[in-house]
Amino acid sequence: MDVVDTHGHLGPSPTGSSGETTEEEVLAAMAAQGVTTTLVMPQSLQPDERVVHDRIARFAATNPGRIYGMASISPLWEEAPYYAEARRCVRELGFKALKLHPGSYNTAPTQPRAEKCFRAAAELGVPLIIHTGLGAPPALPALVIPRARQFPHLPIVLAHAGFVAYADEALVVAQECANVYLEPSWCQFYQARRMVAAIGSERMLMGSDHPPNLAVELAKWRATGISPEHLANVFGHTPRRLFGLPDPTV
Ligand SMILES: [Zn+2]
Repeated sequence: MDVVDTHGHLGPSPTGSSGETTEEEVLAAMAAQGVTTTLVMPQSLQPDERVVHDRIARFAATNPGRIYGMASISPLWEEAPYYAEARRCVRELGFKALKLHPGSYNTAPTQPRAEKCFRAAAELGVPLIIHTGLGAPPALPALVIPRARQFPHLPIVLAHAGFVAYADEALVVAQECANVYLEPSWCQFYQARRMVAAIGSERMLMGSDHPPNLAVELAKWRATGISPEHLANVFGHTPRRLFGLPDPTV
């Protein structure tokens, strides 16, 4: 079965929460778990995101079709350098999404300085991934609703889908906003099942967050008991359509 991991990281974690994630770790976890493709981004709070974006671009170039990049740029940057790096990542490096981490940068989606993240993703034609859950209140899922309505054609992924505690709130956001997708890493298996029952599998994604957690997330999704058709959507069809990834099997 085609499996796309939509939430991977590469490089150091300046906060020390998860240590350094290496290229070898990502590829080894993919091989062990039968994952076809992984999207990777820097961890939050890099001294200079551009350094890790360049490393991710090299990783993707040496693993075509297997590794794609995503840009995680601090929302504290001024608009001009933010847009310049977003454009460079998408147009020159071929990255497939932008990421906003409201908790790490104390930047709720409703704050004025967060608007550039949504605007850049919309103008560049890529989804915006937003960390949700841990780091509330800035990371509360409901704070995405006004922006999802302001940018109705921008696909928005709620990473961690509320992170267990706010999973029901994340689901409400997806029910209220048709352009919102849920990626329930770290949520419980029955929460993921409830999300599929409520919004279907065409707006649901699998993400690991860390290579050792990949086996856990795959086991969790299989434990939901959702149909093989739903599982094929969550693992493969939905992320390939959302991020515009060619199917490596055809
Ligand atoms: Zn993450």
